[in-house]
Amino acid sequence: MNKLIYLDHAATTPVHPEALEAMMPYLTTQFGNPSTLYAFGSNARQAVEDARAKVAALIGAEPSEIYFTSGATEADNWAIVGAALAHESKGRHTITSAVEHHAVLGTCEFLKKHGYQLTVVPVDADGIVNPQDVLSAITDRTVLISVMHANNEIGVIEPIAEIGAIAREKGILFHTDATQSIGKIPVDVNELNVDMLSLSSHKIYGPKGVGALYVRKGVRILPYMHGGGQESKKRAGTHNVPGIVGLGKAAEIAQATASAEAARLTALRDRLIDGILTRIPDCRLNGHRTKRLPNNVNVSIEGVEGESMILQLDAAGICVSSGSACTSGDLSASHVLLALGLPHELAHGSLRLTLGRENTDAEVDKVLQVLPGIVSKLRAMSPVYEKQ
Ligand SMILES: *Cc1c(COP(=O)(O)O)cnc(C)c1O
Repeated sequence: MNKLIYLDHAATTPVHPEALEAMMPYLTTQFGNPSTLYAFGSNARQAVEDARAKVAALIGAEPSEIYFTSGATEADNWAIVGAALAHESKGRHTITSAVEHHAVLGTCEFLKKHGYQLTVVPVDADGIVNPQDVLSAITDRTVLISVMHANNEIGVIEPIAEIGAIAREKGILFHTDATQSIGKIPVDVNELNVDMLSLSSHKIYGPKGVGALYVRKGVRILPYMHGGGQESKKRAGTHNVPGIVGLGKAAEIAQATASAEAARLTALRDRLIDGILTRIPDCRLNGHRTKRLPNNVNVSIEGVEGESMILQLDAAGICVSSGSACTSGDLSASHVLLALGLPHELAHGSLRLTLGRENTDAEVDKVLQVLPGIVSKLRAMSPVYEKQ
């Protein structure tokens, strides 16, 4: 069996060996609870604080503005519900975009079921939100705007700084889910004009089950997890010390390597995009050609089902995805691709290939060699594709 070609880094990434190494003591000998008073516990506390400083440095924040969570899903839920409840007296209206991750959309819809008004702004055919649409959606009862930095399916980078400037001018809290952009493109909370930002460890070569919410100093949100006094009484629950240490190390490595890695990945990405579009007829790139993450390729291929391609590629030792990992378990078409205006058939015939640290030129060649044959074979069996 050949080495697996893993092209699903938007779904998750392997733990960096140095992050694992940093975690090991906290999984074994250094098992103390950081909330205890004796020295053994304060070693763990120091490790958590070191990690906090590293995560803060990665996004241009102060360590005191970083709150550790169980991942980006929790950070998104907390940011949205916490902000909405804290500012309920002003109004009960939130604004988000049509291409958000389900962690954001689902939370906004949860609030809607509980009496909040929700405006979902559209995107253009390239997947980009128009800041003017956000401006038009604002009312005097709007308490929160949440728009993601980079999309997990199509890799499109949204105009966060512009939307943030509008939110600030109107005095409305602004949250961004930066889970996919962190470590791939520069992310600075001040340049982006954000009040809150979600991130996850397992998308940046850290362990699963840990993430963080950045909350700008002075921004008031209610706690979401109730219990002990951890995380400045804002997020209860015993710290996931090994996870937090792993995230800290992953953040440090991301900061040191991101720009060189982005250049390398962009070259691989462009070769993959151009190779697929030239070798496979009736195929289109989803999402803006250049305002996209250095590692994201998302194409729709006429006359084939994404699921069939995934299984065929899997048989060839290549891991890719169709839509996002969360939607690939059900048969409804991706809400992101539908938001671009794609018809259902093309939304179902999509393939997402997301590159990462271990991918090589040879692996891109292998995909370009294997995929056209798979598509031809599936098209030959397809009752709907009649162009060959
Ligand atoms: C993966 C992802 C999440 C969920 O992160 P978890 O840490 O797995 O909960 C949220 N938003 C985006 C954009 C993601 O890509």
